[in-house]
Amino acid sequence: MKITDHIKNAQGKTLFSFELLPPMKGQGIQGIFDAIDPLMEFNPPFIDVTYLREDYIYKQHASGLLEKVSYRKRPSTVATCAAIMNKYKVDAVPHLICGGFTKDETENALIDLQFLGIDNVLVLRGDARRSDASFIPTPDGHAYASELLQHVVDMNNGKYLHEHIDNSEKTDFCIGIAGYPEKHFEAPNLQTDFKYLKHKVDLGAEFIVTQMFFDVNAYKTFVEKCRENGINVPVIPGLKPITSSKQLISLPKTFHLDIPMELSEAITACSSEADVREVGIEWMIEQCKQLKALGAPVLHFYTMGKSGPTKKIAQAIF
Ligand code: FAD
Repeated sequence: MKITDHIKNAQGKTLFSFELLPPMKGQGIQGIFDAIDPLMEFNPPFIDVTYLREDYIYKQHASGLLEKVSYRKRPSTVATCAAIMNKYKVDAVPHLICGGFTKDETENALIDLQFLGIDNVLVLRGDARRSDASFIPTPDGHAYASELLQHVVDMNNGKYLHEHIDNSEKTDFCIGIAGYPEKHFEAPNLQTDFKYLKHKVDLGAEFIVTQMFFDVNAYKTFVEKCRENGINVPVIPGLKPITSSKQLISLPKTFHLDIPMELSEAITACSSEADVREVGIEWMIEQCKQLKALGAPVLHFYTMGKSGPTKKIAQAIF
């Protein structure tokens, strides 16, 4: 079912959902099931699966020549989604990125997703590879999420890259996009970021999932600004509790967000990592209560494959 229909059917009740990563290469699917099982009691209508772009390694040949080789660390997002849908009968939402795909490969991936009965996709540009300083589009691939979005919309209208298909073969994906309450780090200012966000909604995006944030006011202001800018689709808050003291540095560095001083000081004052986890969970429980009161359609958790903290929060909220 489409995420927009899940939200409509909930009639104002806040839903629970979460995101996970495909397992590491060589590990079976059981690790994913072990991460999902403890969260199923909260009835997630959908589960997101991220996509990680292949990285490079440099292979040294006997001649001394260095060859740049692309390699994949994890089985595919599509395969992980298929396994989840098969076992849990919930909607799996694959993240679809521009990086690493030519337009033809994107189209083929979407044909596979339709074949599997996947109704929703979260359309993103994708992060830069670890070995690249900034995002480099794949030759003959899409450079911005809006281009990828247009491609999915075209397929929904029966317009494929190389042919026009008859109506019975149109795709029917409900398309989500990313939003950044504290601005995307490459955007020169918030207003420009909103311009591109609005462009994606005008093209056909039907829901927004936000980057994580630790101040509910960031979400509240973001939703207000969306509405002021004529962006009227559901805005799903993305949430992650702090679970280690190192994250006081790594989360702002990686995700370009602010951690409120009250939270950072509470974490710094902790005498053990177990205490840090408790503080992080309590903060998130309070955030979730406020988000529910604000009418957030879904509370969407970035589990990073660890269900424990999310379960504790969900127990307090749902
Ligand atoms: P875009 O919408 O393309 O925007 C990128 C930047 O370009 C922004 O600064 C925007 O303002 C600007 N911009 C947009 N359009 C134009 C234009 N036409 N001309 C000039 N500038 C423009 N990354 C992954 O690799 N895999 C994942 O699975 C993944 N999941 C994510 C899930 C969520 C909920 C979020 C919030 C992020 C996720 N990311 C993921 C990270 C995301 O891919 C990065 O933040 C990326 O840098 C931007 O993606 P985007 O879709 O917002 O890009």
